Amino acid sequence: MSYTNNHRALLQVIMERGAVSTADARELIVKLFQQNESTQTYIHQINVKLEPLNMTIKLVTCELTGHKYWILISTLIDKTASFQNEFSPAQLELLRKILSEIITSDDGCAPSTACLNLCSSLDTQMSKADAEDFLAKMVEKKWFVKEHGKFYMGVRSIAELIPYFKASYSEEALKTCALCRQMVFHGERCICCHNVLHMLCFANCARVQNPPKCPSCNTIMSTDNINDFDAYNDHVLDFPEMSVETENSEKRTTNPTKKRKYSAR
Ligand SMILES: [Zn+2]
Ligand SMILES: [Zn+2]
Repeated sequence: MSYTNNHRALLQVIMERGAVSTADARELIVKLFQQNESTQTYIHQINVKLEPLNMTIKLVTCELTGHKYWILISTLIDKTASFQNEFSPAQLELLRKILSEIITSDDGCAPSTACLNLCSSLDTQMSKADAEDFLAKMVEKKWFVKEHGKFYMGVRSIAELIPYFKASYSEEALKTCALCRQMVFHGERCICCHNVLHMLCFANCARVQNPPKCPSCNTIMSTDNINDFDAYNDHVLDFPEMSVETENSEKRTTNPTKKRKYSAR
């Protein structure tokens, strides 16, 4: 199959929205292509075209819902989170401070009131109303997720800012999920060793291990939070990500438990 205007249309939507859920992408593909190839096939064809431009479309999981999103990212490592001048100095400063609040918190989130109060500590002035507008846009563009008055790390931050986090924070400040070995900000915490697991990784683990145990210290972990987890309730298909990786992009560790489907209850 050759690269067509349909591929361009798909890329256009991903660029405009910043992040497109796998469900929305599938719906769009069915409309555009009227063929039964997998989503990964089309994304791979677009990624081949994007490679010389140092860009790629990557699949990233939302820590809060377990839903997956296709995101267009630069493959050039940006350790400074400069966002290519997308934001004003005040916005950038607020953004970095909120990211810091989330990273240094125990549960991977920052209350919105505390985030707005950060306005008074910025080097460049910003009103709370402006900050509120800005943060609403950041949620819309999936840089943050807002739930119950708290900001969490959004899929675009997870897709694009890992090099910045690694360059800016100590190893102790950054948490790694013991199941998939990827960075984790919010998830299920072991009450004994305090290690944090992605909720999706933990939900997958709990399907094969009953009761599930902490992979680090073997303590039995509560499954109470899994029942509130969207991906679990939606029976989201969790498919492997390797096929969409380009040579330049970071290779992910494949986790055998990640490929399992949620079966209908
Ligand atoms: Zn994980
Ligand atoms: Zn533990």
